[in-house]
Amino acid sequence: MSVSSLDVKVRKVEKSRISEIDPANIQFGKNYSDHMLIAYYENGAWKQPEIVPFTNLSLSPATTFFHYGQAIFEGVKAYKDPNGNPIIFRPRDNWKRMNRSAKRMAMPNVPEDIFVEGMRQLIDLDRDWVPSSEETSLYIRPFMVAIDEFIGVRPAEKFMFMIITSPAGPYYNKPVSIYVQDQYVRAFPGGIGFTKAAGNYGMSMYPTQMIKEMGYDQILWTDGFTHKNVQEIGTMNVFFRIGDTIVTPDITEDTILEGVTRDSVLTLLRENGFKVEERVISIDELADAHKAGQLKEAFGTGTAASIAPIYALTYHDNKMELPPLETWETANWLKKELADIRYGRKADTHAWIVPVK
Ligand SMILES: *Cc1c(COP(=O)(O)O)cnc(C)c1O
Repeated sequence: MSVSSLDVKVRKVEKSRISEIDPANIQFGKNYSDHMLIAYYENGAWKQPEIVPFTNLSLSPATTFFHYGQAIFEGVKAYKDPNGNPIIFRPRDNWKRMNRSAKRMAMPNVPEDIFVEGMRQLIDLDRDWVPSSEETSLYIRPFMVAIDEFIGVRPAEKFMFMIITSPAGPYYNKPVSIYVQDQYVRAFPGGIGFTKAAGNYGMSMYPTQMIKEMGYDQILWTDGFTHKNVQEIGTMNVFFRIGDTIVTPDITEDTILEGVTRDSVLTLLRENGFKVEERVISIDELADAHKAGQLKEAFGTGTAASIAPIYALTYHDNKMELPPLETWETANWLKKELADIRYGRKADTHAWIVPVK
């Protein structure tokens, strides 16, 4: 079944919790908006989605995803445009990616209208939860889990798709200190590195905890064979400026998560005449460039942080510090350009913005 004109059953809260929010001090992930969207998949079909008050769930302890991790998610953001109307940044790209993740995890496709249309209706209803001050947004978390009540091992047959949302404050933009990881591996060809599967996050917790104890903020992951070729930082895509060329790892091996921010950055750079390369980048090349004074910028990209500048990369006993952030032409330009598009201050020439209404 495909739901063609999305008919969502709506049950509204009796009283909004919006007064719990202090607009001057919004902490990411602390508060959740009044409503959530929920849709069940059973007998090979999606049922009518519902928007209901945000509440706890009741699930059998035998629910499969608790045990075997058929669980995927997405991260999207809504912003207030200059007229105070909520707009969503590239939700269809997240929808497509969710279905790439779903396929790899033997989960069903989520129809576009449940994902995008359902999201629009949810945000419209909770529009007061989209903050309007500088650098704030509404973080949107669509996710899908397997909910068979069965602890035998097999791909599940019942699934639950949900969307919850949470106001997000200005991202703490202190440049991050990076540890180049050449022992633990995040992704390898044939694996699930390209998906937004919960398991990718679960496996990264221990190595991340270790490097945090050592005083670093994030890991630069390397490949599983040579431990030399860089993949991503933490849960962000990574870019470097070497001389006048911007480089980022290519996505051909299924090891890199294809970020919507990554794609937006590549598009903007290419349109504006920057020299860009998607290719294999080894840590030795970065170390050589640093030694020659050619490693000019390094930054992560993702929905949560947008552009996250890197202040130093540590590989064994080589701590490579980057030049002062004020001198970074590319990252600073990108950050402003992206923000202007996301907040609807600049013409949307790529059809990236989806208005809620
Ligand atoms: C979500 C994610 C990103 C960033 O993707 P965006 O669509 O830009 O938010 C990058 N790497 C990993 C591993 C991720 O999970």
